[in-house]
Amino acid sequence: MSGRLSDLTWRELDARVAEGPPILFLPTGALEQHGPHLPLGTDAMLPALLAERVAAEIGGLVAPTLPYGYKSQPKSGGGNHMQGCASLDANTYILMVRDLICDFARHGLTRIVLFDGHMENQMFLTEAADLALRALKGEGIEEVRIVKLGYWVMIDEPLEETLFPEGLISWELEHAAVMETSVMLHLRPDLVRTDLIPDHPPAAFPPYDVYPFDPGSVCHSGALSSAAGATAEKGRAVVEGLVPALARQIAEAFPAP
Ligand code: ZN
Ligand code: MN
Repeated sequence: MSGRLSDLTWRELDARVAEGPPILFLPTGALEQHGPHLPLGTDAMLPALLAERVAAEIGGLVAPTLPYGYKSQPKSGGGNHMQGCASLDANTYILMVRDLICDFARHGLTRIVLFDGHMENQMFLTEAADLALRALKGEGIEEVRIVKLGYWVMIDEPLEETLFPEGLISWELEHAAVMETSVMLHLRPDLVRTDLIPDHPPAAFPPYDVYPFDPGSVCHSGALSSAAGATAEKGRAVVEGLVPALARQIAEAFPAP
């Protein structure tokens, strides 16, 4: 049977839940510029594609991806002023995720993974989980467990060395750079403009943030560091390394129902 929640009928889902609630993945992304070479939906596509593979290993379900996220930040995504970014205010975002968690849990889907592909969402996912648990407790629904992670956190040292033989600069500056480009070259090569892959020094920022942000204060391609080292083989190594590692960690995070 399909691992996509939206492919099931309500009766099929009811039967799955009655057997013991499956682990439900909610991929969370963003519509955000990803340099001259990657599509705006990169941060939504990657967690969606990975979640399907991880869920298949552990008998989980994948909910439809939340394709919009919190605002792109200059130091980790280029900034929300850039063309193609369409984002949600934090309040809106938190409440959307809270509402989804609550409704999943009310229908017995009480084992939820917030499976993130966009760094800026992270603390707002934490807040959504917190507000959802509080609301559900008030309704007498207490058997809820939520796991939150960015898929990239499972990239271990050997994988990091494969990706960055010369060393990782920082995960923030990896935006639209070697990791995301490599995984896209492996999973969605049709969407990578290989002739436009940028090669330039990492963006430089002051140690503080300034509001309003001055778009002229930084000159970059939209990628925050070079993507020239990206290859489909590296992307394959990431996917083949991450999927079993994520499956193991996530299964361990949920006690058997
Ligand atoms: Zn990204
Ligand atoms: Mn992002």
